[in-house]
Amino acid sequence: MSHEQFDEGYFGEFGGSFIPPELQEVMNYLSAQFYKYKEDPEFNEELRYYLREYVGRENPLTFAQQITDAWGGAKVYLKREDLNHTGAHKINNVVGQILLAKRMGVKRVIAETGAGQHGVATATACAMFKMECVIYMGSEDMRRQALNVFRMELLGATVVAVDKGQGRLKDAVDEALNDLVQNYQNTFYLLGSAVGPHPFPSMVKHFQSIISEESKRQILEKEGRLPDAVIACVGGGSNAIGAFAHYLDESSVRLIGVEPEQAPTLTEGVPSIIHGFKCLVLLDEQGNPKPTYSIAAGLDYPGIGPEHSHLKVSGRAEYYAVSNEEVLAAFQELSRTEGIIPALESAHAVAYAKKLAPTMGKDQIIIINLSGRGDKDVEQVFHMLKK
Ligand SMILES: *Cc1c(COP(=O)(O)O)cnc(C)c1O
Repeated sequence: MSHEQFDEGYFGEFGGSFIPPELQEVMNYLSAQFYKYKEDPEFNEELRYYLREYVGRENPLTFAQQITDAWGGAKVYLKREDLNHTGAHKINNVVGQILLAKRMGVKRVIAETGAGQHGVATATACAMFKMECVIYMGSEDMRRQALNVFRMELLGATVVAVDKGQGRLKDAVDEALNDLVQNYQNTFYLLGSAVGPHPFPSMVKHFQSIISEESKRQILEKEGRLPDAVIACVGGGSNAIGAFAHYLDESSVRLIGVEPEQAPTLTEGVPSIIHGFKCLVLLDEQGNPKPTYSIAAGLDYPGIGPEHSHLKVSGRAEYYAVSNEEVLAAFQELSRTEGIIPALESAHAVAYAKKLAPTMGKDQIIIINLSGRGDKDVEQVFHMLKK
């Protein structure tokens, strides 16, 4: 597929759509439907209804007094995606895409999942909207996340084990794409992060932008001014792009993405094509996507959304990597000081904020996007701390 054929969905040199023609037709149709319903007042009213009544939005922007005092610099606010139904930001996007699938008259939803969080969110909404639900998951990830597999099954989904490759997220994505090519007439592929071919990165961003739409309104109400920095963890990049979206044009607001030292896609990746789109990718010496091993399964992906790749190259956003030790310390510190156990993914953002806050003035403001809650990680952290 050449760059010229599909000029939609580019962020600088990144993004686009590098897929077989039969899949491109599916994407073109999806794109047309998304851009149509995105502007449809009835669709948007229905979306708002479910975000309010089912997801539990809007969620608070909590002033973290204890952690602000402990760090001794900028005022720290937490955007509480951890309080959403199913415990993370992923449900925002899932509800949006399922409502779109419903409008398109589709009854079968497929998805791939790594940590299991996106699978659980998808299975949850499929139960409520009476959709058949098939979740592809790497066999190694299924072992690491056995309880999430059980959750999905409880919710009525079929979980398909993928043994190919390393039995990880990347391999599950390949299988889900195969399914879509074969079953596109009755199947909606519900992608969980701001990755994949056009229109997914733009669509996922749209549905996750509710995060910064709310946080901007909330911080203006509470402080009468914009924050100086917004910090979010990046796996594929959906919570971060949602947390950044309404600040992209506010040049006074630093946008900071935080990734694991074991999966430093943005700090060390090179432009390449993965899963049908162009982005920064971690490659090994042979030029293949490099295996990543984050303690936070949700951040374990060798690629990154195309818009983040562009924000990095253009300099609008900054990206930093933190170590497992820093993440574990942040996980415990937020639990102890604020009584909020963060997801290990979100603890990456907290860990970087801990370094940044003391370098800032007491009149300055940081918003940390708390992408999810840590209940799912407590057992893992228990074992890591006991060692
Ligand atoms: C999945 C997940 C992430 C990483 O995904 P993004 O698309 O980068 O947001 C981060 N935090 C939590 C809690 C997650 O479940």
